[in-house]
Amino acid sequence: MKGYFGFLVAIAGLVFVLTLVLSRSQAYAQKAGFYKAKVGNLEVTAISDATGEMGFGLLGELTNEQISLEAAKVGSGGQAFPSYVNAFVVDLPSGKALVDTGNGPQANLLKNLKEAGIDPADIKVILLTHFHMDHIGGLIDQSGNPAFPNAVVYADTKEDEYWLGGNDRGQQAQKSINPYKSSDRYKLFSPGDEVLPGVKAVELYGHTPGHVGFLFEGGDEDFLAWGDIIHIAYVQFKYPEATMQYDVDKPKARETRKKTLAESAENGQVVAGSHLPFPGIGRVSKTEGESFTFKPID
Ligand SMILES: [Zn+2]
Repeated sequence: MKGYFGFLVAIAGLVFVLTLVLSRSQAYAQKAGFYKAKVGNLEVTAISDATGEMGFGLLGELTNEQISLEAAKVGSGGQAFPSYVNAFVVDLPSGKALVDTGNGPQANLLKNLKEAGIDPADIKVILLTHFHMDHIGGLIDQSGNPAFPNAVVYADTKEDEYWLGGNDRGQQAQKSINPYKSSDRYKLFSPGDEVLPGVKAVELYGHTPGHVGFLFEGGDEDFLAWGDIIHIAYVQFKYPEATMQYDVDKPKARETRKKTLAESAENGQVVAGSHLPFPGIGRVSKTEGESFTFKPID
C-alpha cells in the first residue's frame, strides 16, 4: 500500500513538473510578429508593423568611414542598415493601451495584433508619440474608418498644432485623426500630464515639435516608450550626436536623445523604441565617452 501511495505521489509530482514546464514554454512562446514581456507588474506586447532598410545617407554628423565601420559590425552590406517599425500594447486596469499604430493597412500591425490574441476592439486607448505616418498611418483602415472602433486617441498639444494647425503639411495626419476627432475620441495633453492613471507624458521634443514619450509606472520597474529617440540603433547609441534626416529640429533632437539616453542609463528603466531592432524593448547603459549601449530584455 505504502509503495502504491509513493508511486501515486511520484506520478503526481511528474505531472506537476510537466505542467509547469509546458505552461512556462507556452507563456514564453513568441512568434516573429509579436513579443510578450513582463516589465515590473506591466504586461507589454511588442508588435512588429514592418521591417526594411534605412540608407546611410539619412544619418548626419558622422563620416562615411564611421558609418561603414558600424555597418560592417552588423554585417550590413551595401548602403543601408536594417530598420524596424514597432508598436507596443500595455495592459492597464482601464483596458489595453496601444503606443503608436504603424504605417497603416499595407503593413502588419493588425495581422500581428491578431497573432498575439489582441482584438482591435479591445484597444481602449491610443497614445501617439508624434504624427509621422509610420506612427499614425494605422489609425485608419483601407476605407478611412477607425481601425480601432473603441479607442480614444491621445496626442500632444504642440504636435497637434504643428500638423493640424491649418497648413498643408497635415493632410495625411488629418486623414488619420479626423475620424476619431469627429466622434469625440481625440484628446490633447501637455508633457508632464498624467494622461491616464500611472501613465505620464514625457517631453521629448526635437524629432518633431511635439514628439513625446510615455512613462508607465510598473511597480518596481518603470517602462518608457520613447518613440523616435533612436532611428538606427547600430549607430546612434554609440554616436548619440548622429542626427536623422527626418528630425524637424536636428540640434534639439540630438540634445533630447543625449539627455534621454543618459537618464535611462542612470535610472535603469526599461525602454521601448519604435525603430529599435524588434522587439525593441530593453535597457540602456553607458559605455565610454559619450557613448551608450542597448541590451534587449530576455
Ligand atoms: Zn518613426
